[in-house]
Amino acid sequence: MTVDLQIAVATPLHQTFTYHHDEALTPGVRVLVPFGRQARTLGVVVSAAPPADATGPRTFKIKYINSVLDAEPVYSLVLMRLAEWLSQYYMHPVGEVLRAMLPASNKKSTKVTYELTGDGANAPEDLEVRPVTMFARKSTVSEPTLKNRLKDHGLSAEESGRTIKTWLRKGWITVARERKIAARSAVHLPEATVTETTATEATITETTDAAANAGRPVFQNLNARQQAAFDTIVTRGLRAASAADRCPFLLFGVTGSGKTEVFLHTIRELIDSSADQSQKAQSLVLVPEISLTPQMTRIFEERFPGKVAVVHSAMEDDERWRELDRVRRGEALVLIGPRSAVFGPFANLKLIIVDEEHDGSYKQGSGLLYNARDVAIVRAGLENATVVLGSATPSMESWNNAVTGKYQLIEMPDRASTKPLPEIETLPARPAFKAISFLRGDSGSMEHESPFADEVINALRENLSRKQQSIVLVNRRGYAYYLMSVEDRKAAGCPKCSISLSVHSKKKILRCHYCGYNTTVQKIIADSPDKTWAVVGYGSQKAEDVLKSKIPEAQIARLDSDTVLDPKALPEILGKFRAGEIDILVGTQILAKGHDFPNVTLIAILEVDQLLGLPDFRGGERTFQLLVQAAGRSGRGQLAGKVLLQSMRCGHPVVQTALRQDFKAFAEIELEFRKALGYPPFGRMIQFEFNGSDPRKLDQWCSAIEDSLLTMLESNSELARCVRVLGPAPAPIEVIRGRTRRTIMIVSPSRPACRTVATHLQKLVSAPPGDIRVKIDVDPQSTL
Ligand code: ADP
Ligand code: ZN
Repeated sequence: MTVDLQIAVATPLHQTFTYHHDEALTPGVRVLVPFGRQARTLGVVVSAAPPADATGPRTFKIKYINSVLDAEPVYSLVLMRLAEWLSQYYMHPVGEVLRAMLPASNKKSTKVTYELTGDGANAPEDLEVRPVTMFARKSTVSEPTLKNRLKDHGLSAEESGRTIKTWLRKGWITVARERKIAARSAVHLPEATVTETTATEATITETTDAAANAGRPVFQNLNARQQAAFDTIVTRGLRAASAADRCPFLLFGVTGSGKTEVFLHTIRELIDSSADQSQKAQSLVLVPEISLTPQMTRIFEERFPGKVAVVHSAMEDDERWRELDRVRRGEALVLIGPRSAVFGPFANLKLIIVDEEHDGSYKQGSGLLYNARDVAIVRAGLENATVVLGSATPSMESWNNAVTGKYQLIEMPDRASTKPLPEIETLPARPAFKAISFLRGDSGSMEHESPFADEVINALRENLSRKQQSIVLVNRRGYAYYLMSVEDRKAAGCPKCSISLSVHSKKKILRCHYCGYNTTVQKIIADSPDKTWAVVGYGSQKAEDVLKSKIPEAQIARLDSDTVLDPKALPEILGKFRAGEIDILVGTQILAKGHDFPNVTLIAILEVDQLLGLPDFRGGERTFQLLVQAAGRSGRGQLAGKVLLQSMRCGHPVVQTALRQDFKAFAEIELEFRKALGYPPFGRMIQFEFNGSDPRKLDQWCSAIEDSLLTMLESNSELARCVRVLGPAPAPIEVIRGRTRRTIMIVSPSRPACRTVATHLQKLVSAPPGDIRVKIDVDPQSTL
């Protein structure tokens, strides 16, 4: 017998493909198929039915599937439906959506690792991508990890392959292939689940549970506010009579109000009350940053020993598969992870928690540009699960949904420890020119003045003498800000991207934060002998150095995305800080998020001015979040906390409402501004980005596109009335990696209208000429 199957193949084409096979296959099973010139490409069975738009006799020859990879579908029915939704909503090909939902294949029989050689470690500093950076201080790294890092660095799959080949050829890296011993193919076999769900097993587990109760982890008693929140989530969520009664919850609790404890109690309630004890209900806990995972994991593992699975981006793919398989088999009842965990292969998902729901890192930055918070809402609907969004500074989108009754609002306005929220004290910032040092010829000394107000240094010293800990937040990484030519007041810029280079480290390296381009201060000075250069501003690394010289008796460490490149550094530094081995922790935004260090009583914040002035409509929201979240790290335990803010714009309404920790006042001002200008949550936005290496050809093409789009709108006055088309315009960062960027933004109060225009535009740009690439961002988080 021969059947026709619809297969999703990862290609930029927005369609599925028909293949023959000798038996029917379940949707969600992975297969290898011949595709185009490739003999074997990964595909996923979508359905056995012919495609909806198949009309008339076929004009092409149908090929056969090469091989079937899974005995059981890797994608559950819900995940298949979710993929369909993702593909439509984010205007992304379904084959690529499916690929993005799973970590790279676990089916490789050999493990490929690369080793960094001595030459590689000393490879020239001005390379676009340096081997040393990609190895992140380790000497060996697996192939998928290296490829992932290159991808994060902005390289396409092709470019990564080429880069690795070049490095091999130059002798900067060597390759080792090792046969994997244990095949993990057993993972998808149905037997695994069957043994676990036998009735006897379940009874045994119950009795041992009861016997072990004495040694059971202790759950903190909830205070009245927490109890009320918990009761609401249980009665109106977990035990809701029907899916229609179960709307998403927004748990708006100030920092330190004890949201985590509410989550833990809710999960315990869910597990204990599972009607079917052989298949206990599972929970998903989404956290915004990998840096938050160790702390969360520790707490959850203590409370639910052996039942917690964790995934994060620093893990090797095979490790990730193992954790996900524990979830698939129902062995793990709680999955904790960043955004990609929202695609977890749950057997029985009943609760989704999105911690710090406002966080921008829930938005995926390349490929499928999804927002995990929004996907969580949709997935909860498909699974008939309860969803709780938690935040002290909700996003304007979620807040508006709560205000309009689409979400149910639960408030926890007080700190759990009965300690008041910390006072924020403001200090005028030092003007940037004070932090200048002049470099002439090759004599450049990098000494410059302290960016810190004396009050900050004194407060840090005092805190140290009381044996309490402090956090210093500098909203910019690196050593100093940039290298400026005094004569023409221009910063030394990246030759490939239109942004200034940052000065890193005492080695005087200049680096582009967008493409990784490296050069040295020496080289720039040598290339322009007639100019005087000044180092202006400062970053986290500079702040660390200044503090070390001003307060030599303190143990000081730094945490920013540079140090986090090394996956081991992060838990190590956080662990030391928690253990009290570090007195002052200096770092970027990473430090403002979600951490709970009871002995931290002083937070000093420098440099929010640049964030406030961002050419993006979310600049105000981001600043408010940063200030309130940062302040929330102070005084969380038994000791009262204090916050010092050094800024040139202390009178700004965003800063003022943040100082009072008055989210509602901020939201009122912010929503008014968004409404007046038609920005989200009142307007829907879909952004198209076009980029290409030849700006002239790009502009020609863009204006042709604009003409067709305008013609379409002219013939449809109703659409034209409610949709704004902005652009084509240069993106705020106009050039990245040598490619010029243009954007067209579609804005409308009506989602269907926005979509109609976007779909039309998508068709117009489906076959761009030359090397022009198109990127569609639905609900963009940043318009930079
Ligand atoms: P949030 O996530 O809301 O910022 P956390 O859940 O981290 O706050 O809790 C803040 C602190 O309050 C933690 O140290 C936690 O142990 C403590 N805490 C939580 N609930 C209670 C409670 N019911 N009684 C006393 N302390 C509590
Ligand atoms: Zn660059």
